[in-house]
Amino acid sequence: MTAAPEAAAPPPEALRAPLVVEFPFTRSLGPVQSAFLTGLRERVVLGVRTTAGQVMVPPVEYDPVTAEEIRELVQVATTGTVTTWAWNGQPRPNQPLDRPFAWVLVRLDGADTALLHALDAPGPEAVHTGMRVRVRWAEERTGAITDIACFEPYETSEISEINEVDEDDEGTGALQAVPHDGAFTDPVTGIVAEARLDYTYSPGRAQTAYINALSGRRTVGERCPSCHKVYVPPRGACPTCGVATTDRVEVGPAGTVTTYCVVNIKARNLDIEVPYVYAHIALDGADLALHGRIGGIPYDQVRMGLRVEPVWTEGGRYPDHYRPTGEPDADYDAYKELI
Ligand SMILES: [Zn+2]
Repeated sequence: MTAAPEAAAPPPEALRAPLVVEFPFTRSLGPVQSAFLTGLRERVVLGVRTTAGQVMVPPVEYDPVTAEEIRELVQVATTGTVTTWAWNGQPRPNQPLDRPFAWVLVRLDGADTALLHALDAPGPEAVHTGMRVRVRWAEERTGAITDIACFEPYETSEISEINEVDEDDEGTGALQAVPHDGAFTDPVTGIVAEARLDYTYSPGRAQTAYINALSGRRTVGERCPSCHKVYVPPRGACPTCGVATTDRVEVGPAGTVTTYCVVNIKARNLDIEVPYVYAHIALDGADLALHGRIGGIPYDQVRMGLRVEPVWTEGGRYPDHYRPTGEPDADYDAYKELI
């Protein structure tokens, strides 16, 4: 196998841009997670006891060894021991603390597993595995993991208020989790988790050329040197042949509707009246259809084979929509491989 040296070099002209993907993720809670989160609201930390007697905090709904459903809730202390940690010197937005802190795994007294959370500490030199910590509760609690604002150092061997040392524990002082019925008034039954992913996106060599061409209102694809298909937008390689696509080919601007759907649901933040048509459009010279909105024609008159051309708006970075060219419809045989 040979590789062209230039293929390995980083593309000097590749674009980069921030890309944020965010959405509210709504989930319902089963009885175990509901009790856990409602407990946090009430300053109570609950775990669950497995079939083998292990106490898991945070609790799970199924035994990790036997896969049996487990429901035996127990209460553990709000003090614990750091089992491992990592320093976070540059907190990101919406992390538990807005200043540098440690991510810690804390085994709460009475638990056999560790909980991931933040530790408020002045610096990494103040953190060590085995250090004693306790929960710092958030002032306003809603039934979420953030009801624990963070952990804080707790330089004493004392165990927190709620639990009792088991008198039968032969003097070791080990704390036993105590049974809890998990019943609270006004239990939390669902949560909305704000999912957010911050990327720095680089579209790579092929799509950089595609995007740069769009800024001049041209559409550029790439041809596979093996099967000669022209990919638009280009991905840099032919998925069929597994080889890099290298020849740039200008396609369009007109194209053919290969298939389409009528959109009847109005999307939030999208100022388009429904119903409208969204279509796959094979630009002339392309062997792959891209998608776009069809305008300038009643939605119920759009059809396969309709010839369309792009409509640009001032400052637009890609066609706003496609409209009929007025040409006769394309023959089915001309686009049947592109559907
Ligand atoms: Zn190919």
